[in-house]
Amino acid sequence: MHRILIVEDEEAIRSGLLDLLEIEGYETAAVADGEAALEKAAQWKPHLVLLDLMLPKSSGFDVCRHLRKHHPDIFVIMLTAKNEEMSKIAGLEMGADDYITKPFSVSELLARVKTRLRRRTEASATGEPDLLEFGEVKIDFRRYEALRKDKHLDLSAKEFQILRYLAGRAGEVVTREDLLQAIWGYTPDNMPTTRTVDNQILKLRQKLEQDAAHPVWIKSVRGVGYKFDPEGSPSAE
Ligand code: CA
Repeated sequence: MHRILIVEDEEAIRSGLLDLLEIEGYETAAVADGEAALEKAAQWKPHLVLLDLMLPKSSGFDVCRHLRKHHPDIFVIMLTAKNEEMSKIAGLEMGADDYITKPFSVSELLARVKTRLRRRTEASATGEPDLLEFGEVKIDFRRYEALRKDKHLDLSAKEFQILRYLAGRAGEVVTREDLLQAIWGYTPDNMPTTRTVDNQILKLRQKLEQDAAHPVWIKSVRGVGYKFDPEGSPSAE
């Protein structure tokens, strides 16, 4: 069962959300300030946090920042008041997964919660997907099949493994050393040159990207490593 933590200082909203989510079959808990939110999150490990922005003790931003850093697998949906448009933008940078503006409808809230949690269920226990779709590409990792517009793409097993590993950490930076350990099985004391990784990434891009010189899915993070961008947004580089 999915656990949802409600963080809201307004009693009426807090108890309303609690009742609503319990009726929907979620395991729920509620707290009224930022400090209690962090304690509860660490101890109870919710799958999703509904986080009010304006809170006593520690703001929703601070809570969100902390959750991102220490519990990156928890989804965060922020609850913001209508006049807090600027906060939405700041919240995005803080790493919230979604926003709902107060006053919100019950059906809207439930739809957002379900969407987030469904994505979670789809990911396997390791966080690495069995299936992946982006742009015109469809990948079935269990079968080692890759298609672009129904035409087969010829990916090596290594390339499938690299892509799956990156996709399981979508939006996060994965270092070359991480990949060498996870995919090739090297240990820190017998690391080959990281050029091995760069060559494989280049091949993957040539097969998957429209323009391998300007990748939108498998991005370079200068001096660090690579990142799979599930949105496929154009790179700032
Ligand atoms: Ca509040």
